[in-house]
Amino acid sequence: MADRKRYSFYRGLFTGDVLNFSKRSPFVKEIMFERVYPTKIILPMKMHYGVPAVPTVKVGDYVKIGQCVGVPEKGTFAVPVHSGISGKVTNISEIRLPNGIITPAVTIANDMKRNRLESVRPRSGFKLTASEAIGIIRDAGICGMGGEGIPTAAKLRRARTEVVKDFLVNCLQSEPYSTSDLVAITEYPDYVVLGSCACARAVGASKCIFLISENRKEQRQSLLSSIEKIRNDFKDLEFEIKLFRERFPQGYYRLVARALYGKNLALGETIEKSCKAVLFNCSTMLACWEALSDNIPMMSRIVSVTGDASGGHNMLVPIGTPVSELLMNAQDIKNGSDRIVWGNCLTGIEIKEPENTPVVKTTSVISVVRRTEVPRTPCIHCGLCSECCPMNLSPNTIFEMLNQGLRQKASEEGARECIACGSCSYVCPAGINLTTAIASFAGEGRIIEVNSLLDNTSAEDKTLEEYNSYVGEASLLEDYSDGADSDKKKSKDSITLPFEKDKEV
Ligand code: SF4
Ligand code: SF4
Repeated sequence: MADRKRYSFYRGLFTGDVLNFSKRSPFVKEIMFERVYPTKIILPMKMHYGVPAVPTVKVGDYVKIGQCVGVPEKGTFAVPVHSGISGKVTNISEIRLPNGIITPAVTIANDMKRNRLESVRPRSGFKLTASEAIGIIRDAGICGMGGEGIPTAAKLRRARTEVVKDFLVNCLQSEPYSTSDLVAITEYPDYVVLGSCACARAVGASKCIFLISENRKEQRQSLLSSIEKIRNDFKDLEFEIKLFRERFPQGYYRLVARALYGKNLALGETIEKSCKAVLFNCSTMLACWEALSDNIPMMSRIVSVTGDASGGHNMLVPIGTPVSELLMNAQDIKNGSDRIVWGNCLTGIEIKEPENTPVVKTTSVISVVRRTEVPRTPCIHCGLCSECCPMNLSPNTIFEMLNQGLRQKASEEGARECIACGSCSYVCPAGINLTTAIASFAGEGRIIEVNSLLDNTSAEDKTLEEYNSYVGEASLLEDYSDGADSDKKKSKDSITLPFEKDKEV
């Protein structure tokens, strides 16, 4: 199933043993709603690519675990937001996230009673078409957990429209110190594989391909065992495991397209159209299966809390948990004089107020790193930044051009190709922060690239009133319907679930 070839792009960083730094903290399935049990959560209405959702609760309302507290307005590119704790809404106001996003946020004080919605339980006796399955994923508020937070349902619809053949599952987590995806595979390999199979069928793909580092033998074995369990139930799907070299930033879709298909995607070119493939993060697939099978909306996630200043942890936390409460839980992490970074230490953002900064749907790691003073000198033309740039750019040249206001020339030099990986700043012996300048210039191009998803989002949108008729004490999931009648459910796009032969997804 796994071929002998090792795939990779060229250049980048070799992270070596750094990646093994995080240690796995034990947790059990029974307490999956809160491994860390915060005193409050701050739920931003925008944790995804798109516009903010609209709060459906008001101050003083009581909410339960799994309850929807924010919904998209009709015609907008957004996903619903759900609470991972029970308690009272204490505040609704605008906050500014470390990445500069200003969004309404709902603060909920935890009553520590763990009251959850009745509907948050394993689904039974259901039959769903592929479009209904995609609708459940949308109403579960699922967005890409490994990157920009693109709404998963929109990406699935686009893949379906483009008639993709390969369904790629990104298990390549390569950021220094971050192992949350790897823990997801180790703890819930069946869920990752089943979510991938269900979504692969929903988009009509014929092959399910798991991409994983050659060094991750334990996780590869877990995936193989899970695939063997369900192979007979998904005879229409081929399975493959592709091994990649350990390198940063392995896993970005343009680098995957280059490594697997030998294609250099231009800006705005999609992997769906050019390679007939679609790429999803493995934690996103886990979330999809939780929604489809167990009626669990996206309300918690695994976060690595780690860094070079201490040991490492992986915690299952309700989304919205303040970073300070994660750090309190990781008692071996002394953060007095260290930098607390929202994200990984190469591309993350240093935060000053961990008590007011929440974990969001795309937060895979909180890094605590030693404060080091790098002496800043002019460029010494060592060429290290060019040697490591995965997009084959000359960061020092582009940086100079941008400094001199030569934007057109910087663009011609390829600046818009920058994927903000942070490698050039990391290796620069002169301490020059190349990434911030180049990545923000490239940002405009990347917005246009992702906007192509907007084309296919409105077909099944509900109005705010329709959403509101579901919410209250609802997670949105239990009553999901896109109007498909029973005949349609028997159509060829329905998916039979394994383990329970009468189920269709
Ligand atoms: S220029 Fe951009 S893509 Fe190249 S190394 Fe720097 S941050 Fe990464
Ligand atoms: S790594 Fe730093 S010092 Fe070396 S060429 Fe690039 S910008 Fe100049």
